[in-house]
Amino acid sequence: MLCWTLLPHLLVAASGPGMEAAPSPVSLHGALRVERGRIVGKFGNPVSLAGPSLFWSQWMPQFYNRDCVRWIATDWKAGVVRAAVAVEPDGYLVDPERERAKAEAVIEAAVESGLYVIVDWHDHRAHLHTEQAVGFFQAIARKYGDKPNVIYEIYNEPMRVGWPEIKAYSERVIAAIRAIDPDNIIVVGTPNWSQDVDAAAGDPLKGTNLAYALHFYAGTHKAWLRDKADRALAAGLALMVTEWGATNANGDGPIDHSSTREWLDWMRKNRMIWCNWSIADKREGSAMLRPGANPRGGWTEADLTESGRFVRGLIREWGF
Ligand code: MG
Repeated sequence: MLCWTLLPHLLVAASGPGMEAAPSPVSLHGALRVERGRIVGKFGNPVSLAGPSLFWSQWMPQFYNRDCVRWIATDWKAGVVRAAVAVEPDGYLVDPERERAKAEAVIEAAVESGLYVIVDWHDHRAHLHTEQAVGFFQAIARKYGDKPNVIYEIYNEPMRVGWPEIKAYSERVIAAIRAIDPDNIIVVGTPNWSQDVDAAAGDPLKGTNLAYALHFYAGTHKAWLRDKADRALAAGLALMVTEWGATNANGDGPIDHSSTREWLDWMRKNRMIWCNWSIADKREGSAMLRPGANPRGGWTEADLTESGRFVRGLIREWGF
């Protein structure tokens, strides 16, 4: 005879791997779209998601696998994961098939796990590689454009290039994607390492389901960058924090807890979708794994860095 007090344990057991699945982010929210400057789900509700970004694909290829993404879904309870598809050096420009295969491994794992996946053209000079970006995104759109999971991020962090050039590049890449996939969200980079969202707000792109990237590193970027973002939001731009770090802008240094807390409050208030930099076992402050951590997940506390333990906690708290 079952005792009532045992039932919660049985319910927990019944939601374990291979048993009755908990709702996934994508099963809850479906295809995302941009409506009046906000990112909403299939019921028109604002959608806010949290998750990690993988590191540059040419330097940390080992984490671009199904088990790693599945671990991020089940143990980190993420809503989103970002594949940082390296373009240069030694990335897509020299071996497009190899880099696209990494993106596809992450996309397929995300689809299987019910995660949203940001497919990031991780380039600082994408306007010089327009035709390569078109080829890449058309291939991804052809294969996965019907999946609600996919979010295209077409220009990671423009450097030393103004909004008019970024805009011209974006128009070309967006047209190429839209010829195949009419609806999945496309995120556009903004000048100065995806900080000058106000520049884009002054002369936005035309089209549907477009959002703009806002990147910050809490140790370096403070209230002045939130002021820019507030101006862009007030102008009606949809923003997505496709990359942020709790450290300095070079990815290193200590966690800036007080600045991170201010940014998290801002992201909560504005219902951002965010990815934290990064899943890597490099020796730097923002890397979330200790050197030699298993590329296929299953990480214990001891496998995580201080940043890894902190950000995993934030992602689990955030929900989806
Ligand atoms: Mg679509």
